[in-house]
Amino acid sequence: MFSTDKRRNGFRLVLALAGGIGVALIGGTLCRAQSYTTTRLADGFDYPVGKPNGDGYYIFRGFSPHGHLGEDWNGNGGGDTDEGDPVYCIAHGVVVFSEDYQRGWGNVVIIRHAYRESNGQIAFVDSLYGHLKVRSVRLGQQVTRGQTVGTIGCGPYRMYAAHLHFEIRKDLRVGMRREMYPQTYQTYHVPKQFTDARRTLRYEDRLVRVPINTFLKSNPNRVTTEEIELPDLSSAGSAPQTVRPNVPVTVEEVITEETSAASATPEKSKTLFEKLLEKMANPQ
Ligand SMILES: [Zn+2]
Repeated sequence: MFSTDKRRNGFRLVLALAGGIGVALIGGTLCRAQSYTTTRLADGFDYPVGKPNGDGYYIFRGFSPHGHLGEDWNGNGGGDTDEGDPVYCIAHGVVVFSEDYQRGWGNVVIIRHAYRESNGQIAFVDSLYGHLKVRSVRLGQQVTRGQTVGTIGCGPYRMYAAHLHFEIRKDLRVGMRREMYPQTYQTYHVPKQFTDARRTLRYEDRLVRVPINTFLKSNPNRVTTEEIELPDLSSAGSAPQTVRPNVPVTVEEVITEETSAASATPEKSKTLFEKLLEKMANPQ
């Protein structure tokens, strides 16, 4: 207990110091200091299959807010004919997630892209490629438009007919925690719509700074060593208090008798329950 308190005080001190150097404490949650990498500014966006125009593929299921947060791309051949087909990176970027997430997802790759919006601002999006049969890029890797990131799969335990589940996110915090953010246009782009509007962007040969480590703990199933906040039970200065429940007087009397230090008698050897029944049968 003592070491925990000490640690907690140390933590408070760190927070106090960190406050001065720009680490934000928002609503009692410690936000990590932001980290960055650099990546090439996107010169346009392509489709993730049938490079670069999606030839030979169609959207089997589209985007719907609060429903399907991306698009399912299928090969024209139907069934599993597209299994193992290459999946391409839609634009230059950097890999921010590449894992077998299992559950309903299987192999997932997320790539972060920087591009210039029509208003001149640099903007960021994440593209997500799900249910992949194999992944061919790793976390932190720089990737270019049209590079293979994996192949079309059927998800874990072959739970689906082969298809690519594809998302484009505006909100870089989502990662694999979609349930934590609005499942609306505030968080997501409609992939085809986004892509169609940005097939060709002005070429600029430059690297831009991209925020990374923006995801919350990505896999809730994974054991982490992160410190959890415990309520402070030892309020400084005041003696620890024993909390006793309120009990009816009858029960109180039996407890008093039962716990008083007297020599053993036949009466005393009755069970607490028996005594309680007698008391209640003969109120005094
Ligand atoms: Zn889908």
